Amino acid sequence: MGLIINKPTYMPWHLSHMKFLKSIFQKKIQSQTRRKLQKLLPPLFQKEEIPLFHHVQFETVSICNNDCSFCPMNIHLKKREYKEADWVVIERLGNELQNYSFEGILSLFNNNEPLIDRRLPDIVAFFRKKAPRANIRIMTNGILINIKVVEQLIKAGISYIHINNYNEKNEFIPSVSKFINDFSISKFKDSINVVVTMRYKNEVLHNRGGNSPNIPVLAKSKKWFCIFPFEQININPWGDMTICCNDVLYKRKMGNIMGDKSIYQLWASKEYKNIRNLLSNGKREGIDICSVCNNPGIERTIDSRTGKPIGHNITYKVEKSVSGIEQLRWNTEIIVNDINKSALSG
Ligand code: SF4
Ligand code: SF4
Repeated sequence: MGLIINKPTYMPWHLSHMKFLKSIFQKKIQSQTRRKLQKLLPPLFQKEEIPLFHHVQFETVSICNNDCSFCPMNIHLKKREYKEADWVVIERLGNELQNYSFEGILSLFNNNEPLIDRRLPDIVAFFRKKAPRANIRIMTNGILINIKVVEQLIKAGISYIHINNYNEKNEFIPSVSKFINDFSISKFKDSINVVVTMRYKNEVLHNRGGNSPNIPVLAKSKKWFCIFPFEQININPWGDMTICCNDVLYKRKMGNIMGDKSIYQLWASKEYKNIRNLLSNGKREGIDICSVCNNPGIERTIDSRTGKPIGHNITYKVEKSVSGIEQLRWNTEIIVNDINKSALSG
């Protein structure tokens, strides 16, 4: 437990001397992983009762305060109106996760800046009660981070905090620099892992469902599988469920969690089934947003214990939760339930 600082995980193209070779190598690994998961995941969804999602991404607030050139949520583009999720939406999600004995990852962010929501410690405390075995995490750009809010989040029961420090010179921004100093001497420095990753604002990544401002929309659809509608749900502050974490502008809604149907019923709907069938067969062209998306379609995340990127070694299995409900899980020793044992207690 403690503070882990990562070097940049991506190189801007103009700084990469090996960009051609690197790109070929990455594509090969991605394609092998995608094929492996294409064989593994669809059969798990053939039964009448499909397994519950593994990852919930919930935006409690709709906007961001940063200006990354690759991101549609860049503050200058003003793509979304300001909205904080009403407590009835938060409670509905919490109550459903409690009904499912949810034990996966609960990310209280998606394409937004979670620390803009001043209620965040209260929200974390609420979800910790409802999903005691979940891995509750945030990823922040660090602009608003400070030791006080992190202390509140730890007391509330957060499992993991990830800071993406965006700076072209590979330097800490002032708020992150101060936070690192304060956290290193705090009494709770060993109670959770805080990972800081150095990032550049002018990266060229994938096109986020055709939404990225610094990369063109695809002219021809990829014939690729994609895991996201098999393992994650994404909920915006209005309670809309959207197809995946790349649907930044909420173009493909899968229902609203405040309606008559439960989240599981939405997850098991005909619409989801149809999307899963198309993706299982590599037919991205049959789904509007997927048809213009060049996302590799595999999970890429950070191991909260080591701070290292993981992705190509993740596979999935189905296991029963304590309530007997089948849930999708990562089939790996890496991660997940490093439930906070706060040094602050007592
Ligand atoms: S990448 Fe993150 S920090 Fe940057 S603009 Fe988008 S949401 Fe904000
Ligand atoms: S293909 Fe792209 S838009 Fe479609 S589900 Fe996958 S990541 Fe999302």
